[in-house]
Amino acid sequence: MKYPVEKSESQWKEELGPDRYRILRQKGTEFPHSGQYNLHYAKGTYCCGACGEPLFESNSKFDAHCGWPSFDESIPGKVEYIQDRTHGMIRTEIVCANCGSHLGHVFDDGPTDTGQRYCVNSLSIDFKDE
Ligand SMILES: [Zn+2]
Repeated sequence: MKYPVEKSESQWKEELGPDRYRILRQKGTEFPHSGQYNLHYAKGTYCCGACGEPLFESNSKFDAHCGWPSFDESIPGKVEYIQDRTHGMIRTEIVCANCGSHLGHVFDDGPTDTGQRYCVNSLSIDFKDE
């Protein structure tokens, strides 16, 4: 098994419902500015929407004005990076290292010290406050 948490696609579909399944398991993208965490700045931790693993801390979140929740770093080791050549671009896809579910993409044009911009679907994450 590649990931600590693995389920059949039909199991994921049943657990996640159609919207989250499309994003997390079929690498979908939510409409910009549509997500509940786009302009959300409470203190806490953002966890994987599929398996619940903590992925990002709220202190790494910033407003990238791109319409999706953006972070300048992940919690170390929690995110896996995959080269994505779809849609005629070379991008870096980010997935949960615990269950392989799609989170979004990471770009190296971030405005903070890390230089990274993790662009994540709200539907891919669940917020837990402190
Ligand atoms: Zn996960």
